[in-house]
Amino acid sequence: MRKIGHARSRHRRSRMTFPCHLFVSWHLARLVTQDVVARRWIGCAGLVADLDGVGVVADIITGQPRYYEAWHHLLGHNLFVGILLFGLAGVWCRSWRVAGWTWVGFHVHLTGDLLSGRGPDGSGWPVVYGWPVSGYEWQWAGQIRLDAWPNTAAFLALLAWAVVAIKRGGRSPLELLSSRLDRQVLGAFRSVLASRKTAPQPRQG
Ligand SMILES: [Zn+2]
Repeated sequence: MRKIGHARSRHRRSRMTFPCHLFVSWHLARLVTQDVVARRWIGCAGLVADLDGVGVVADIITGQPRYYEAWHHLLGHNLFVGILLFGLAGVWCRSWRVAGWTWVGFHVHLTGDLLSGRGPDGSGWPVVYGWPVSGYEWQWAGQIRLDAWPNTAAFLALLAWAVVAIKRGGRSPLELLSSRLDRQVLGAFRSVLASRKTAPQPRQG
């Protein structure tokens, strides 16, 4: 890892990493606590950073690539958001252990971006960790491209791990949003699978 100064470059957007962030965050959360509220704080801490990418909606509507590249990896990807999440999780859950894991979840996201956030056009995408106090940009020279095979392999491995975890635990990443929604969706899946198993087989000859 090395530090570079003021080389924040622009590249085409890619949303490939969000599913990876989702699975990593959920796996971390479910492995460290059995409490669903704590899992939400820890899991969502690994996702909220990318809310600073919502400018993409305005860019699509206006047809101007303006807000996404200007604010993504700035507003949500910095130390102060991490501190805010740490404090909120600690107060809400009344647990500094949960706060600590929330801090970890947030920084796992930043680490993932640093490791594998290079744009498909080869341009790097640094994290401005000290923003807005410092504009210093952090980037790893070996940053992997979003569309490179290691990212795809990591996604497939995380997905396979999630399938196993869902089957064993009876809950999915949807629990980070709502336990009820999670139960409904998993119930619907089970119904479809059960109906397929019991469906009459076509006669031969
Ligand atoms: Zn991110």
